[in-house]
Amino acid sequence: MTVSVPFPPSTSLDLPATVPGCWISGSPAEGSGAIHRIVDPATGAPVTALTLATARDADAAVRSARAAFPGWSGAAPAERAAVLTTLARALERDAELFAREEVAQTGKAIRLAREFDVPGSIDNIDFFAGASRNLEGKAAAEYSPDHTSSIRRDAVGVVGSITPWNYPLQMAVWKVIPALAAGCTVVLKPSELTPLTTLRLARLATESGLPDGVFNVVTGTGAEVGAALAGHRGIDMLTFTGSTAVGRTVMAQASTNGTRVQLELGGKAPFVVFDDADLEAAVHGAVAASLINGGQDCTAATRAIVADSLYDDFVAGVAELMERVVVGDPYDPDTDLGSLITLAHRDRVDGMVQRARAAGFRIVTGGSAPDLPGAFYLPTLIADVTEDAEVYRDEAFGPVLTVSRHSGDDDAIRRANDTDYGLAASAWTTNLYRAQRASREIDAGCVWVNDHIPIISEMPHGGVGASGFGKDMSTYSFEEYLTVKHVMSDITGVSRKAWHRTVFG
Ligand code: NAD
Repeated sequence: MTVSVPFPPSTSLDLPATVPGCWISGSPAEGSGAIHRIVDPATGAPVTALTLATARDADAAVRSARAAFPGWSGAAPAERAAVLTTLARALERDAELFAREEVAQTGKAIRLAREFDVPGSIDNIDFFAGASRNLEGKAAAEYSPDHTSSIRRDAVGVVGSITPWNYPLQMAVWKVIPALAAGCTVVLKPSELTPLTTLRLARLATESGLPDGVFNVVTGTGAEVGAALAGHRGIDMLTFTGSTAVGRTVMAQASTNGTRVQLELGGKAPFVVFDDADLEAAVHGAVAASLINGGQDCTAATRAIVADSLYDDFVAGVAELMERVVVGDPYDPDTDLGSLITLAHRDRVDGMVQRARAAGFRIVTGGSAPDLPGAFYLPTLIADVTEDAEVYRDEAFGPVLTVSRHSGDDDAIRRANDTDYGLAASAWTTNLYRAQRASREIDAGCVWVNDHIPIISEMPHGGVGASGFGKDMSTYSFEEYLTVKHVMSDITGVSRKAWHRTVFG
């Protein structure tokens, strides 16, 4: 393992000591709650501090979004598209600043932020700028001889969004931009650990011509501001990305008002290697897919399920490659793996690994934190893991891959589906029929064949089972923020008389 030390305890960002924690009605606003420090998890150095929002601030943001709704939903789609296109260009201009700020608050490797988080966000905004002009749908004409029918697709209304800390910018973009494209207005609560790029995105949106109140941000705790949003009667839809446990809580809160809900929750992605797979490709794929973003990725490969005949070579290959991973200074473009989100999260990951060790599973490589000051954890491969193991069943959300054997196609697919989650999976095979069977029979929102992780704005992301329901990205996501209305008009004058007779005799 290459561990790069030392690195400067500096975020390389020139942020003021405090920043406003909210963006409401097109302006920065202080939250009315406690002071909260943002800490660089790679160094423990303070990045900045902000005043957290409270339920009162959330309420003000919802009222602001409500007031802005008629104007924004009534704007021509081309007007909304123009604002989003301007925002995409502004984000392109400020890409390096966003990348560095993302690294400062998450500890992720800057290469990932530069090559994935920020460009992915820009592409997503460009995609939905185009999608916003695609409001046509199938229309019914003369299904009734006396009427003509048409379909309207209208914005749902005020959307409450709650996002996690792992990809703060991308998660905000995935939630907010399709909603804005559809004509909705939004109140977003980012994770209080990582609000900076979300707040910056809101500022940039205002500077790009987004009317005041259309996109509001309230940084606060889940227990106070998240709960206040989820149960707010002024919200027409709640969209949430985060853990399954909290997702179920917010759904219960939203149900008290009958609020429409979309949930993107946890995952425990299987990585299925059949006996005819290209072993080298599978080994490289497994390392990249399990370590992306330090494994703090809901689609990350977590359970390699490998054919008996390839098992030993797969384990040896993955271990060797994991040991070549460069762990350390997140700002160094040669770093592969930065730090995890907090020391507490690192300890949680380590606890799961140590319990796996104590249960007798084989820690092939890693299995501890390196000698670095921040929340780092070594790439970890745990072999011969049985299906009842905690590390096989529960999300570690760290750089941890388990490996187990399968005895053939039926067993491989059974094992892949032996989870409550259903977000993503991959099948590694050179046989077309196996690939087709696996993609049909594995229960997940996405099945990759001979790859694992790539996503594109044009295609949907979302899970089944404990991974939630509904889609981010693609036109499927756009649809989440629209309602379908049937408009039926009498075109003959005969119908009215006929119905009059039916009702009144
Ligand atoms: P989390 O569930 O702890 O928090 C997510 C958000 O919910 C945060 O903003 C948090 O403040 C808020 N929250 C917490 N308690 C709340 C409550 N009672 N009411 C309302 N809001 C509340 O998740 P996390 O630790 O921030 O993120 C990691 C999790 O997110 C993992 O489980 C991961 O799989 C999941 N995730 C899923 C996807 C996906 O697309 N399916 C993407 C990224 C992350």
